Amino acid sequence: MPCLFCEIAGGRIPAKVAYQDDTVLAFHDINPQGPTHILVIPRRHITSLMDLTEKDDVLVGNLVRRARDLAKQTGLGERGFRLVFNAGEDAGYSVYHVHLHLVGGRRLSWPPG
Ligand code: 5GP
Ligand code: ZN
Repeated sequence: MPCLFCEIAGGRIPAKVAYQDDTVLAFHDINPQGPTHILVIPRRHITSLMDLTEKDDVLVGNLVRRARDLAKQTGLGERGFRLVFNAGEDAGYSVYHVHLHLVGGRRLSWPPG
């Protein structure tokens, strides 16, 4: 089975794109957990956080900075937001292509559920 987020990155499955460049794609989550819920992914397939290497440090920095910029653009810079990488079963990791969640626009509880 092809990877869902590789299919989205390749334009073969539609998504509401919020940002894209040569290495990064950001699109709105299909099941939003807040008024803003955007997924920021590397175009290159990386199965999970567990597969990151030192070579990916710049890429991960790009994901985080891009998510921060999207938070600012969607008006969350002042009121706040959350960036989340899930990994593994306990965290409910369900799509096995690294993705950074940007969630905001409502009061977020802590600790998370
Ligand atoms: P995870 O639980 O793996 O960290 O997050 C996967 C996320 O992908 C979930 O928030 C889920 O709603 C989202 N998702 C799953 N399938 C699709 C899809 O086909 N399109 C979009 N835009 N988001 C999806
Ligand atoms: Zn993939």
